[in-house]
Amino acid sequence: MTSTAQEWHLVARPVGRPVTDDFRLVERTLPLPGADEVLVRNTFLSMDPYMRALMGAGDPDIPSYALGEPMTGGAVGQVVESRAAGLAPGDLVLGNLGWRTAAVAHAKLLTRLQRVDGVPESAFLGVLGMPGLSAYVGLTEITELREGDTVFVSGAAGAVGSLAGQIARLRGAKAVIGSAGSDEKVQYLIGELGFTAAFNYKDGSVREQLMKAAPSGVDVYFDNVGGDHLEAAIDALNPHGRAALCGAISGYNATGRTPGPSNLVEVVKKRLTLRGFEVGDHTALQPRFAHEMSNWLADGSITFRETVVDGIGNAVDAFLGLMGGWNTGKMLVRI
Ligand code: NDP
Repeated sequence: MTSTAQEWHLVARPVGRPVTDDFRLVERTLPLPGADEVLVRNTFLSMDPYMRALMGAGDPDIPSYALGEPMTGGAVGQVVESRAAGLAPGDLVLGNLGWRTAAVAHAKLLTRLQRVDGVPESAFLGVLGMPGLSAYVGLTEITELREGDTVFVSGAAGAVGSLAGQIARLRGAKAVIGSAGSDEKVQYLIGELGFTAAFNYKDGSVREQLMKAAPSGVDVYFDNVGGDHLEAAIDALNPHGRAALCGAISGYNATGRTPGPSNLVEVVKKRLTLRGFEVGDHTALQPRFAHEMSNWLADGSITFRETVVDGIGNAVDAFLGLMGGWNTGKMLVRI
């Protein structure tokens, strides 16, 4: 039986902040699954900041979205028809078939998921998925977090940041400080996630607010934001401090190169380590991460939030909302 899908295409490369006219929702008839292929109906789509880079065409290291083609991204869905051994109708799968309601894909591009008691399937795009692994890798492998460290996390109420802060607490950090873009998010960090202190970066100088929250400095910085946050953290880091550079969202909509921190000489003077990472280089840690995170979820030591936008038609709004701070925790589109 033939099936149809709705899928978002990029039709113009955004300059600065993307606008809705850069995208088009297209309906198409799907082919029948061929040998080793399955038909998947998506249930949740992941909205991620890296997608902004894929919308451009200026970076030869990044495979851009092709204009007029379906946009990809993390998604969970259900197999509805299968011509592949090992995948049957009803199976829950994770793949890169995002920004669309359904797709036909080769089975080798999909991971069959085991449902976890008490955890929604959307969690495979957040706390149990790529953002969770990013937080885990960044803290445990990149900063080599130690008991007694004072930790600063920027973008702390988002998918990665909210988990980085909680993992730091569970791994024995003396204090965990977070920054976020609203008073509600600051309350969430302190009241629900157990951060020691937090501030709203829109209230004033990041540097001054960080110095006030961490008068004895910080040992570890988990950077999701870059820009003024990174510069403030370099000032606040104690001698031999370590920073995991995970992302730099403050510059993702910039139309040119963004200036670097003006205080890089402090890296030399204080013997700091600033280390960037890509989660995709660390998939070997997935089993250890999944085991530890499942235990933390089961015993309640880690909690998470999701911001869910309903309907494929609202996916672009969800993405723009993600870039603008609508979300607390993981930003998702429910189909
Ligand atoms: P989030 O859930 O944190 O969502 C993005 C958040 O960024 C928004 O909610 C907003 O929150 C904040 N933000 C937007 N603009 C600014 C700004 N100008 N200054 C400060 N904060 C801003 O996204 P993720 O958790 O998925 O990703 C967090 C970071 O990690 C991103 O930089 C992303 O690119 C990076 N990343 C890197 C990976 C890697 O392998 N290195 C893997 C996954 C993510 P607010 O209200 O606080 O402003």
